[in-house]
Amino acid sequence: MNERAFAPLPADIDLPAVEREILARWKAADVFRRSLERTADGPRWGFFEGPPTANGKPGAHHVEARVFKDLFPRFKTMKGHHVERRAGWDCHGLPVELAVEKELGFTKKQDIEAYGIAEFNARCRESALRNVADFAAMTERMGYWVDLDNAYLTMAPSYVESVWWSLKQIFDKGLLVEDHRVTPYCPRDETPLSDHEVAQGYQDDVDPSVTVRFPLTSGPWAGANLLAWTTTPWTLPSNTAVAVHPEATYVLAELDGERIVTAEPLLPEKAQPLERLSGRELAGSTYQRPLDLVPLSSFGDDAFTVLTADYVTTDSGTGIVHLSPAFGAEDLAVAREHGLPVVNPIGVDGHFLAEVPLVGGRFFRDANESVIAELEARGLLAAHEPYPHSYPHCWRCGTALIYYALPSWFIRTTAIKDRLVAENEATDWHPAHIKHGRYGAWLNNNVDWALSRNRFWGTPLPIWRCAEDHLTCVGSLRELSTVAGQDLKDLDPHRPFVDKISFPCPDCGGEARRVPQVVDVWYDSGSMPFAQWGAPHRDVEQFEASYPAQYICEGIDQTRGWFYSMMTVGTLVFDKSSYETVLCLGLILDAEGRKMSKHLGNILDPFELFDRYGADAVRWLMLAGGSPWVDRRVGDDALSEIVRKVLLTYWNAASFLLRYADLAGWRPGRPVTERHVLDRWLLAELHGVVADVDAALEDFDSAGAGRRLAAFIDDLSNWYIRRSRRRFWQAEPSAMATLLETLDVLTRLLAPFVPFVTDYLWQHLHADADSVHLASWPSAADLPDDPALVAQMRQVRDLVELGRSTRAANKIRTRQPLARAMVHAPGFAEIGPDLRQQIAEELNVRTVEPMTTDLVKVTVKPNFRVLGKRFGPRMRRLAQAIAAAGAPVDGTLTVTLDGETITLGGDDLVLTEQPRAGWAVTTVNGTSVALDLELDEELTQSGLARDAVRLVQDTRKGMGLAIADRIRLWWTSDRPEVAAALRTHRELLADEVLAVEVAEGTGDGDPVSFAELGLTVWLAPV
Ligand SMILES: [Zn+2]
Ligand SMILES: [Zn+2]
Repeated sequence: MNERAFAPLPADIDLPAVEREILARWKAADVFRRSLERTADGPRWGFFEGPPTANGKPGAHHVEARVFKDLFPRFKTMKGHHVERRAGWDCHGLPVELAVEKELGFTKKQDIEAYGIAEFNARCRESALRNVADFAAMTERMGYWVDLDNAYLTMAPSYVESVWWSLKQIFDKGLLVEDHRVTPYCPRDETPLSDHEVAQGYQDDVDPSVTVRFPLTSGPWAGANLLAWTTTPWTLPSNTAVAVHPEATYVLAELDGERIVTAEPLLPEKAQPLERLSGRELAGSTYQRPLDLVPLSSFGDDAFTVLTADYVTTDSGTGIVHLSPAFGAEDLAVAREHGLPVVNPIGVDGHFLAEVPLVGGRFFRDANESVIAELEARGLLAAHEPYPHSYPHCWRCGTALIYYALPSWFIRTTAIKDRLVAENEATDWHPAHIKHGRYGAWLNNNVDWALSRNRFWGTPLPIWRCAEDHLTCVGSLRELSTVAGQDLKDLDPHRPFVDKISFPCPDCGGEARRVPQVVDVWYDSGSMPFAQWGAPHRDVEQFEASYPAQYICEGIDQTRGWFYSMMTVGTLVFDKSSYETVLCLGLILDAEGRKMSKHLGNILDPFELFDRYGADAVRWLMLAGGSPWVDRRVGDDALSEIVRKVLLTYWNAASFLLRYADLAGWRPGRPVTERHVLDRWLLAELHGVVADVDAALEDFDSAGAGRRLAAFIDDLSNWYIRRSRRRFWQAEPSAMATLLETLDVLTRLLAPFVPFVTDYLWQHLHADADSVHLASWPSAADLPDDPALVAQMRQVRDLVELGRSTRAANKIRTRQPLARAMVHAPGFAEIGPDLRQQIAEELNVRTVEPMTTDLVKVTVKPNFRVLGKRFGPRMRRLAQAIAAAGAPVDGTLTVTLDGETITLGGDDLVLTEQPRAGWAVTTVNGTSVALDLELDEELTQSGLARDAVRLVQDTRKGMGLAIADRIRLWWTSDRPEVAAALRTHRELLADEVLAVEVAEGTGDGDPVSFAELGLTVWLAPV
């Protein structure tokens, strides 16, 4: 390091301008690509980009995920790993369709069919990528290195073909099946939703809860009223039966002259029980249905009968359940068992069919009111209360979901539940509690994946069916060409084009047509590990080399979204989850802790933040502002503080070095062991920082790493540089070498967090250097390990703090030198003269010595409250013994009482400390610092001279003089002791204020007066 070139830093610090300059350099020098080339032979460290949907504008939460997606790949790349990073865009699905529907002013699905699927999908294709340019601009501006030029698109034909291939694997295993099931269904979008979609859309609602009379018409309790409880009165028109638990006890009781029936534990308190029967004995009784809005002919023989079902509980309600098989999975199962028809008076749009009296044309939930009024009118309403609960809504359009019987396609994930649980066990979750908490619970309650969507813009389900119900699943366009007997390699595999392809059924020769559905968009994104390459039809090696990924990262809301679909598709198709480690991120909140929303108008524009504070500040806030999975507040105060405390403090340290290196010229330092104690300490401290930051990042703990780095930056600036200033003024080579070596390592540690300012300073600290992002991660082994020195410096700084508070408590001004400080502290004897010198300078005392004499008079008294209980009547004599025993040693006292040796300490004694006259003493946790308060003439004069130095320095600053500018100085004082002090300390004054001449008397120009010292000075630049 003998030859060293530095580039001077600009005087004005403009971090956003620095970032723009660095962006241009990265582009010109192709730094990202070269960082990949540099590690081409290194071990692979796989990362998968979860594709965002680019039909909306990018927001702060996109920045958050991208910061974390950037940090760890940069870190691993510096450590020599090869980390491919390919961008991707999620193109299909309801979000895109909804946006286009809105643009076209559509309100229902029929509008799309009337408009034409081809035209509609063409608009979706355009909309899906409409904001890719904004996303790309944000990605670049924030310094997220990902290959945007070769981004994968989930709508690309090769991608769709890969998805088809994977579905065929699942189909061939018998795990992709059609079933008539009650599924959560969005009536606005007219499509079923999967359970993981439902999980994302719960809202707090208030529904009516009603208890309804079902008058029994036959059976042992004919004439009594069964009471059934429901929170969905709108299902009562389609009631077909009621269910009781076969083993539960039911009671016939009298209440206010009415004969009622409920389960025994749920009988109202005031009711008088008359008879008891088991559910089994009650079964077979018939009742009169409460509402007869749907014609009787649609019901089977068992209709309006009491049935038994094991799922009925006696925990809540009445223990009697009303069944409407079209709207409940359990109801449907019971209905099937008893051969009851599924009566559904509600159309696919969620509205009652027009011909239904009373509620015809109403949206299902809006029918509640009329139903309740009708029950009331018929005398069938036993109770009616509001019922607040959490109800699922469509995660995209916000419409209340309905549980609705519909034929749809399922992946039988329940069949591979054990494999999913095993893959989850092998997954490294951050935070760890997700594994068995949120995600594990989710897996344990796994239900089959409702895969099909009755929609338009999505990956078409590649299943063709003939009139005989033979199914053909197609895994590629090539396969489709073969079965269809025509070249379809270039077919757009979307609707409506693929719908037009039919072929003779391989089983019966009848015409096979594609089923109408498309697949859940979450299946698309869960297929990205192979589909991004078009594997296995194309680039199989690329896929195989990258599967599974070591690392993925998204918002914690993806636990039941992308994290689930990635693990499930991987396990279904390859019997292996597609990722090893997953990092879940918390929400980004505004400065007041509120979610950002259009409604509140508190959405932050990332570009504005980058322009105001710089992307580095935003990155640091997200990475180091708290645990990744905790919600974080983004606001001006937090960002300004990061700029000031972290980025500018780091910048100023580098700037300090460059300024003095520039002034003095660069010379190499001595070997570390021969350097100043502050130099040796700084490098030893840095050793620990490198080890800790490396360990934290290996554990995906960006906040822990950030805290350690911020603390070190503070130590560097507010201890090392501040304490070493004088050595830099003197251009001491070891000081400069130490600071340079430290900045070199620190810059590399910070580079993955704040890639801009680090690269800028790196290239100033090494004028001929390439980007810091092509440098290697530092190794703790290259730095001296000296835990003893680190601990001693910690103690030195604690003693300085203690001494300062002693000064402050005794109102002794900082610039007044004192003769000595005395210290009592464990291990102080080992603290050498060089470190004692640090304490002396910081405390402005001439010497620091171990405490030899007792400067504190300790008086000891027994604690009667404690000792009284133990010694009872002997207490008085014990108190005498304590009084006679003298001072305690290290807080303990040994006395003899009745020939017995008693050791007292802690709560036994009340110690009172009184410093000797002329001393100020502070003691904390067994450590004491004492200051000698006696001032002789020499100390007094020295203090006054230093006060004068400070005032002249302020004047220099006020005149706008540069640090190295020399002056001439004249002074007069009407206080004799001040004049004497300045005469005595003429040299000190001259040195400190860089005066080539100091003269007593009136000078040229404007005088500056300081009343507190009776001092007037004249300064003239040389
Ligand atoms: Zn919807
Ligand atoms: Zn067939």
